[in-house]
Amino acid sequence: MDTHATLRLTVGSAAGGERGVEAARGGEVRVLEVGPTGASRLEPLAFATLDGRTAIHADVTPERADRLAAALSAGDLPTEGAHATVDHAPDVPPQPSGGPLGAGTRRVLRHCGWVDPTAPAALDEVDPERVESAVRDAGLRGRGRGDAARAVGSDRRVAATWDLARETAGDPVVVVNATETDPAIDGDRLLLESDPATVLAGADAVAARVDATDVVVAVAESDTLARSRVEALVAAADDRGYLDAPVDVVTAPDDYRVTEPTMTLESLEGSERIEARRRPPGPAEYGLFGRPTVVHTPRTLAQAMALARDGAVGAPADPGTRLLTVIHGDERATVEVPTDAPLSEALRGVGRPSFESACVGGRFGGLTRSLSVPANADAMAGARLGTAGGVELFEPGRCPVAVAGTRAKLAREGNCGRCVPCREGSKQLHELLREIYDGEFDAGEVRELGLTVRDTSLCEFGTEAARPVLTALDEFGPAFTAHANGRCPAGECR
Ligand code: SF4
Repeated sequence: MDTHATLRLTVGSAAGGERGVEAARGGEVRVLEVGPTGASRLEPLAFATLDGRTAIHADVTPERADRLAAALSAGDLPTEGAHATVDHAPDVPPQPSGGPLGAGTRRVLRHCGWVDPTAPAALDEVDPERVESAVRDAGLRGRGRGDAARAVGSDRRVAATWDLARETAGDPVVVVNATETDPAIDGDRLLLESDPATVLAGADAVAARVDATDVVVAVAESDTLARSRVEALVAAADDRGYLDAPVDVVTAPDDYRVTEPTMTLESLEGSERIEARRRPPGPAEYGLFGRPTVVHTPRTLAQAMALARDGAVGAPADPGTRLLTVIHGDERATVEVPTDAPLSEALRGVGRPSFESACVGGRFGGLTRSLSVPANADAMAGARLGTAGGVELFEPGRCPVAVAGTRAKLAREGNCGRCVPCREGSKQLHELLREIYDGEFDAGEVRELGLTVRDTSLCEFGTEAARPVLTALDEFGPAFTAHANGRCPAGECR
């Protein structure tokens, strides 16, 4: 990796930065357009590197990008006004110890903000056998709602789904499920915008191990930058013969429920009415057009590659790290936390704010007052938090009853309608919450209905849909009673 007079400028869908690249180009210095880092409050960032030192500049305007390029051209490292200056080995991206970029660890995020997202070099280094043995030995679990090997509280592991696909008759296929549109979860988008080579390298390794003939990357319609970078990477990799299995990049509708793995497959098959499929058989046995199908998110594939490259870290029962998108007001950051570290580690990404409550796990996450729980699936499930990858922080003025009501409305309006518990249960749950504002509240009735939706729904949309209501009820019960008595303690509801 070249560290001589290079200016890297981050360009991401959430952070802009394109004009900075335009302004800096044209001189003698190498200017690289890189993807976002996850430290959104600092973006767009510039990494000015000269002889093993990198000056990191935040909130870089086009004028500043031009000045940084001019300083490097003159042989000077522009440290004045830098957010941090870091000495580092040529092949190791700089990581400052403090500030949002120093939050958590950077194993999976290591290349984000540093490598050219469209350069296929990383694809040349894949050893599929090594990837499989690392994943199998560690017992990796899937990451994110879109992963068919994400199973909390069961022994369904990533390697087990590979075994099943391999043993099933038919032509296996690997689906990279990057359809997450939950506004509270950025991990998959970040990886595809910044380091799609590692994701595709992981998919190619899986394809080799399960004898898949092709890879399909499903990207949410609105993630246009992620899609264009994956397409550019695939084209460059094809030219150099880096990928064993051909890759098709396909757009999926921006619809919260489509991320559920079997609904992603329905979408890829062009079904007019997208509904979840009954299981068993799961996708590994009956997937895309009936083929044995391995469905992983970019986050899972990046974890597999990090395990193969750097070995296991984190909690033994759920090894690796977890990407957590932390949202606090207008600020957001995606931070990588080892699975044996508390969720609160991620808060440095947004400046370690104080908070009254939090919703952990995206739109259907669990409401809590504490983020001391370790970031592994078992501990989070034990605390009734979601593992989908989002932490929304709420200030004292945020009403848990209103949050629960909004999420119940999403469940009512967003479900696919296939099974009664979710379709009818979410409707009734939403109505029971609305009745609280008319003075009618029976905690036992709300809880019983929520548990029925949770325990009898067909897919994970339904099994998770009641979680905001159930956790809000248990953590903030008096607030529900106060609402029934005509008062919102937070002052948010009218
Ligand atoms: S749980 Fe909800 S989203 Fe899933 S199949 Fe049933 S109705 Fe559809």
